[in-house]
Amino acid sequence: MPARILNSIAIRDEIYGELKHEIAALSDAGIRPGLAAVLVGENPASLIYVRRKIATCEQLGLGSWLHTPPATVTTDELLALVAQLNARDEVDGILVQLPLPPQVDTKRVLEAVDPQKDVDGFHPVNLGRLVSGRPGLVACTPAGCMEILRRSGIAIEGADAVVVGRSDIVGKPMALLLMHANATVTICHSKTRDLPQTVRRADIVIAAIGRAAMIEPDWVRPGATVIDVGINSITDAAEAQRLFVNYPAKLVQFHEKGSVLVGDVHPAVAEVAGAITPVPGGVGPLTIAMLMSNTVKAARLRRAPSASKNKQGSRQGNVAAPVVAKL
Ligand code: NAP
Repeated sequence: MPARILNSIAIRDEIYGELKHEIAALSDAGIRPGLAAVLVGENPASLIYVRRKIATCEQLGLGSWLHTPPATVTTDELLALVAQLNARDEVDGILVQLPLPPQVDTKRVLEAVDPQKDVDGFHPVNLGRLVSGRPGLVACTPAGCMEILRRSGIAIEGADAVVVGRSDIVGKPMALLLMHANATVTICHSKTRDLPQTVRRADIVIAAIGRAAMIEPDWVRPGATVIDVGINSITDAAEAQRLFVNYPAKLVQFHEKGSVLVGDVHPAVAEVAGAITPVPGGVGPLTIAMLMSNTVKAARLRRAPSASKNKQGSRQGNVAAPVVAKL
């Protein structure tokens, strides 16, 4: 039986509905949460991502500012910009779109962001808070995956979860969030000895690898939940034909556009899994939703701490989990 497609768009809209109430409450207190984005150079993919984020801020009534230093920017110049944004009270979130050009020391720039404004959740202070289960800002993509699981009613407590990928921005925080939610977590990477066998044990598979269609149908236990974080563009006609032989709509799309997106999970896994996120339209929309959520949360924690106390008081014991409107 084909898998249930996890409806990320409905989940995203539900989150935006909740955020609107919170934004209205902050507005009553004279606070308009705001996000400053730093986009270096003219990477077309980054430009699309940042525009989408700014457009979502506008749609939700958040303040937004876009800074566009040239691709020749130095580390010192970016550090000076980050310092300026740290100092501006109306800026609640600072987003430095990655990747930065090779001459820039990315870690230094990310670590210069005030942890209270680190809406990407990349700062070591926020990562440390996540490790120790304290309130903080959590990386958006893994936070979004947790929202998909929770709001789709997927049982996490006691589940065997396998996270394939151990990057700082997806795999590691994902594994921590699942562990805090009482899953038994295995983290896999490029040196894992028998990846198919390990994945086969999972009730929940998180694929964050960056390799097109790598998780094959016979790696997945029938009925398992699969969250596909990967986004890969296929431009080779033979590969598109091989991957989408049973998915004519995707092949039509390929012939019209010359490319088609696929996740890190083979499309045919949808015939085996119990539930699966689509690509595109699965994890991606939730990543932006969690960025908005983090910006609102950052505003509340820094500028309306009394409101935050009330919120935290209502969810003791689960403070690291990034559930919107609960932190
Ligand atoms: P990354 O930094 O390149 O990390 C990839 C991870 O996959 C690494 O830990 C690597 O292991 C592991 N890996 C690579 N080849 C492997 C193999 N053959 N077997 C097992 N593990 C392997 O990537 P990332 O930033 O985490 O992103 C992962 C994917 O998610 C990409 O497709 C990216 O485009 C996508 N993404 C999507 C969103 C979204 O909003 N939807 C957001 C972020 C990322 P080692 O550590 O051993 O090298």
